[in-house]
Amino acid sequence: MDKLLNVINGSAKGCGSCHTTTCGTCATEVPKGEPRTVLNRRDLGRAVLAASVTTLLTGCSGKEATEKAVQPAPAAPALSPELAVVQQSKGPIMTTLEEFYKMGPGPSSSHTMGPMRITYDFFQRVSKLPEDQLKRATALKVHLFGSLSATGKGHGTDRASLAGLLGKAPATCPPAFLDGLAANPNEVHKVTIGPTTLDLTLKDVIFDASKGDFHHPNTMTAKLLAGSDTLYELEYYSVGGGFIEWKGYKPPDKGQPKYTFEHARDLKKYLIDDKIPLPKLLLANEMAISGKSEKDIWEFLDQVSEVMVRGVDTGLTAESVLPGPIKLHSKAAAMQRNLKTSIKGDAGRAVTRVASYGFAMGEENARGHIIVTAPTAGSAGIIPAVVKSLRDLNTSQQNIREGFLAAAAIGYLCKHNATLSGAEGGCQAEVGVGSSMGAAMIAQALGASPKVVSNAAESALEHHLGMTCDPVAGYVQVPCIERCAYGAVKAWTAYCIASEEIPEERRVDLDTTIDAMSLTAKEMNSKYKETSEGGLAVSVVLC
Ligand code: SF4
Repeated sequence: MDKLLNVINGSAKGCGSCHTTTCGTCATEVPKGEPRTVLNRRDLGRAVLAASVTTLLTGCSGKEATEKAVQPAPAAPALSPELAVVQQSKGPIMTTLEEFYKMGPGPSSSHTMGPMRITYDFFQRVSKLPEDQLKRATALKVHLFGSLSATGKGHGTDRASLAGLLGKAPATCPPAFLDGLAANPNEVHKVTIGPTTLDLTLKDVIFDASKGDFHHPNTMTAKLLAGSDTLYELEYYSVGGGFIEWKGYKPPDKGQPKYTFEHARDLKKYLIDDKIPLPKLLLANEMAISGKSEKDIWEFLDQVSEVMVRGVDTGLTAESVLPGPIKLHSKAAAMQRNLKTSIKGDAGRAVTRVASYGFAMGEENARGHIIVTAPTAGSAGIIPAVVKSLRDLNTSQQNIREGFLAAAAIGYLCKHNATLSGAEGGCQAEVGVGSSMGAAMIAQALGASPKVVSNAAESALEHHLGMTCDPVAGYVQVPCIERCAYGAVKAWTAYCIASEEIPEERRVDLDTTIDAMSLTAKEMNSKYKETSEGGLAVSVVLC
């Protein structure tokens, strides 16, 4: 979903959907021979908004206005080679669960989730300063630069930044708190740091220079002030996918995986020849790479699960027009409500229930509430819908944990051998991979064999191949939200097919389909890679 501005015009190597060196949640290079895109989703959103206003004022058609409003974006500044995000490497899969499943506010991992993680980090840092320093503190300020300044208003960068500065953890911040910050922009909030309590408002998040010689297009500085003196200051970068760096950042050291793999065929040797269960293998690798204990890993996955289910539950009761120019009305709550009187029969009710869960979390993302990237923010509705529907079946928490491991393995493979970024591969790389992960999760959680897990993942991915990324007005709403619902339903369909066929007779294997996705991504016209220059984005006219 989440194309970064630094990819635009090919000036950077990060795709923008994730941190590229250590997180592994997306591929990094713009495919060779691919024309560089000139306009991104956010700029397009602003252009369409301008076009809509023009339409109202002049009476000309929205399409004409949009065409006039859409101008090539200026070249994005180059990334500093010092950033860890540009120091890439290949080799065995080294991604960890925390890098993959990232929690924070939507709708943009780089422009909303990253900034909140930054200011929360700053809050924690200043909280540890010596008491005599903190006694002198009079203010906290955040300055947004580059793309964060240019497009941050529409993405809620300011409210997310303020929430972090107020000590709200990105993973657990209540939706009502974030909504309150946006609804009451002049409200004064108190934050206590050691012996000092400071007043903060949205005005303490400053939209600073949008152009300049920045380390990264998404640069921020955070300051603790004593009058005109700066007590503590740090420059940060929201490098994509919710990942953050700061001046002097060093990526954490990682251990070597116990079972090295780059492809599904490598896994097959361990799983089928050596009969090592998939969850055991993935848990051993996670412990070896991250250095975490088994208990810590299960606790993390339980937290991911809770954040997802809480998001679905919130989305199932919230009814609203979603933010932005599309004026899209939410659907999840009505779908859920109407289930009680549905005449659709078992099949219709089952599909409606799973789809409503996908809508619920997709709509929560559009509202800027807390989501988990799985694999991205735009596709963040799929795995929560799967988890919720597995819970409906009373699937044990341990089985759901193991399902999360299987889903992550599919995501890792797709990232490593293709891409997870709509900006590089279209929506097949986001919703397609999310659905594939969901199918693997269902199969694993319901006790299927490794071959069925792999086949289910393959089937779901196969039937998303070629899906383009063409968000209307540059907002992660149409087609993204409904695609999450479809992605979840297709995950179940893929599992149902894979669990009924003779596993060894499946004609296409997972590696082949991931390779096909990679090839399709390379050959896909850039108009369909989150530039909003083709497909639905130009067919739907907003008036
Ligand atoms: S269309 Fe798909 S890839 Fe594009 S922004 Fe939406 S969810 Fe992401």
